[in-house]
Amino acid sequence: MSGTFAIGRLFGVRVRVHFSWIFIFALIAWSLASSWLPSQYFGWGRAQYWTVGIVGSALLFVCVLIHELSHSLEAIRRGRKVRSITLFFLGGVSEIEDESKSAGEEFWVSIVGPLTSLGLGALFWLMYLNLRSGAGQLTALTQYLMIVNLAIGVFNLLPAFPLDGGRVLRALVWRATNSHERATRVASFTGSALGFGLIGLGIVFVFTNSLVTGIWLVFIGWFIQSAASSVRRDEVEKQTMSGRTVGDAMEHTFPQVAPGITVQDLLDDYISKDFRRAYLVVLGDTFQGLITATDVRGVPAEQRAVKWVSEVMTKAADVLTLPPDAPLEDGLRVLAQRNIHQLVVVDSGMPVGLLTRAGVLRVMEISDLLAREEARERTDDS
Ligand SMILES: [Zn+2]
Repeated sequence: MSGTFAIGRLFGVRVRVHFSWIFIFALIAWSLASSWLPSQYFGWGRAQYWTVGIVGSALLFVCVLIHELSHSLEAIRRGRKVRSITLFFLGGVSEIEDESKSAGEEFWVSIVGPLTSLGLGALFWLMYLNLRSGAGQLTALTQYLMIVNLAIGVFNLLPAFPLDGGRVLRALVWRATNSHERATRVASFTGSALGFGLIGLGIVFVFTNSLVTGIWLVFIGWFIQSAASSVRRDEVEKQTMSGRTVGDAMEHTFPQVAPGITVQDLLDDYISKDFRRAYLVVLGDTFQGLITATDVRGVPAEQRAVKWVSEVMTKAADVLTLPPDAPLEDGLRVLAQRNIHQLVVVDSGMPVGLLTRAGVLRVMEISDLLAREEARERTDDS
């Protein structure tokens, strides 16, 4: 996800924050300090409202992080790789590599998040009951955290993709029908239904009760609906690609350069002549690495004449590669997840082709065309 910055690592998982969180953090602190707290707890000073507002907002952030972490840890426990957790305005996303291998795995990795939030809510509830006699700042904090954690837990249990509850639903349908595809369709349709429902409710709110609540509902509804429909699109894409391999989509000819030329030479003699994005660095028969336009851009103009390609390239050991018989889905996933433009296709240690986003798109477009033609012929026959 772009527009994010890393804040550290927890249990080996990189934690990133989207810039929108700064805005949301301020918005929550402000609405706590200026509206919710004064309506529940009277007679504090301005500074006290703001202190509790800011601390409350920060602790909410920690609670959302714990929720996401519970998904990640459950996934790791089941042998999957978790790349990172990103907190963004409506919560967080765990970037877990690969899809669940079984319905049971999908079920547990999904449900552990809402359960964690409900557990946190119950914990703050107990603390709140013990503190309730006082009208102090700690009471206010525990009350607020109890409410938001219970709300996060319940909201995420709604059986609508992309919420956790939608994934739980998908796991249950998957188990019942043995079809991951049908399960995804069901969960994404309930996601769209919930999204449109929230948008409708939001519009009613705008005209009757509260403009701000209405706008929030429309916004959240739109977010859920668009995420749900993009999952449906991905599913269609996957079907178009099924059976294709990386070898089908790769370019067999790929530009090569020697490691001993300068970055300036690469620019003058190659990039500015044939406008390729990536060059394999090859010496004799051995694959040394990959150099891309992005690498070149990273070298300041005045140093390009004295830097060797071999100093700037990604070394062969670090270049992401796939074998030609890997499924095309894997190729597309790596390109998208790593946000890179090309992958080197390697067969027993030697580069045999280059897989680019354009290449994948071309194969998908043409298979889609052929599939539609076939469908038409079938209709003609009948
Ligand atoms: Zn979750």
